[in-house]
Amino acid sequence: MGGHVFGRSSAPLPTAVRGEGCYIFDANGRAWLDGSGGAAVSCLGHSDPDVRAAVHAQLDRLAFAHTGFFTSEPAEALADLLVENAPEGIDKVYLLSGGSEAVEAAIKLARQYFLEIGQPGRHRVIARQQSYHGNTLGALAAGGNAWRREKYAPLLVETSHIAPCYEYRFREDAESAEAYGLRTANELEAEIERLGPESVMAFIAEPVVGATAGAVPAVEGYFKRIREICGRHGVLLILDEVMCGMGRTGTLFACEQDGISPDIVTIAKGLGAGYMPIGAMLCSAAIHDAIAQGSGSFQHGHTYHGHPLAAAAGGAAIRAILDRGLLPRVREKGAVLDAALRARFGQHPHVGDIRGRGLFRAIEIVEDRGTKEPFDPARKINAKVKAAVMSEGLICYPAGGTVDGRKGDHVLIAPPYIIEDDQIDELTDKLGRAVETALG
Ligand code: PMP
Repeated sequence: MGGHVFGRSSAPLPTAVRGEGCYIFDANGRAWLDGSGGAAVSCLGHSDPDVRAAVHAQLDRLAFAHTGFFTSEPAEALADLLVENAPEGIDKVYLLSGGSEAVEAAIKLARQYFLEIGQPGRHRVIARQQSYHGNTLGALAAGGNAWRREKYAPLLVETSHIAPCYEYRFREDAESAEAYGLRTANELEAEIERLGPESVMAFIAEPVVGATAGAVPAVEGYFKRIREICGRHGVLLILDEVMCGMGRTGTLFACEQDGISPDIVTIAKGLGAGYMPIGAMLCSAAIHDAIAQGSGSFQHGHTYHGHPLAAAAGGAAIRAILDRGLLPRVREKGAVLDAALRARFGQHPHVGDIRGRGLFRAIEIVEDRGTKEPFDPARKINAKVKAAVMSEGLICYPAGGTVDGRKGDHVLIAPPYIIEDDQIDELTDKLGRAVETALG
């Protein structure tokens, strides 16, 4: 039986059959500690009773009603919850089925907004190198990862990529963090001026970078400067919180900690906590109203946009995050995880950095701890770490190699918000052994 499903891995995979708390059990009965929520998805762990009950109740009432004809109670309730808890100025919610769809919708919304307000020349997007915004063609164009894009070129959205503010910050000792933040933010201004502000519609970035760089927050002041540059040039600021949002860093929206509000923000992953495929694109009333008063409506849509079951899962997940005190818990357990990682890897000869916010953490694996020199990508360190963590029965997210010409290997750790201290110890023990095996 089996073998006809194809996906991203060509290797035979264990069959997941059941989940409970921080563990997934495979068909052989083996327990896997979920140290990364897949890719920062399962923020409530597996088999959460409230989310299951909300989805079951909705399934018993109504599974689907097309949004061309109806809105639905779970969709309205979810949008209310999101707006009540969103950064200042965010007022409207467009529900989708995942992160790439949310980014795709954000890019299209920005484009339509500028058409409606009589600035049709604004079509370019500026993003950052070493970034990932999804795999559909628009989101792929925005992503900085050249090797992902090149097979599908020419892409549909004209995007240029500036240097990230997180470019191995830990290797640049000579410059103060403040000067570094300012210098990298100013790259945005230089790029807008190079392209001509009348042709630029949006800048997109993750507040805390996930998969491509490994839980890297921007240095203090960076996003304030970015916000100011976007505002001055009439460029929309899109924040991609698909991975770092929904409480992962200790606040519902990661950008709260940078002290700014975007014009558009995308969320997914933790939004449905893995119980249903869901994403959302949130925007300001100004953008929404310009379109509503212009041609009338956002010319976009998917059959499953606003799906009642997905919205029920999303609403229950956010209520769980807010009502069970999980945001302070993420901050508290994040500090425990950070301390455990430092105890385990703080003096490790091949760990160059330990970083992150809340339960969004990473270690950077380097050839030389002193110089912070990365390993030669030919050593395939992250592939070896992945194999080693799997043999430990641990799920985490090793990535890196070469991205946009930059070398580096990191392991992203993003466990469920319900993780307990002994499970944090289990996680760091398993990861510690896996790193030894991979480097040995
Ligand atoms: N943006 C970011 C920051 C992501 O991390 C991801 C997924 N890794 C996406 C967008 C795309 O989301 P999805 O896989 O749900 O389409």
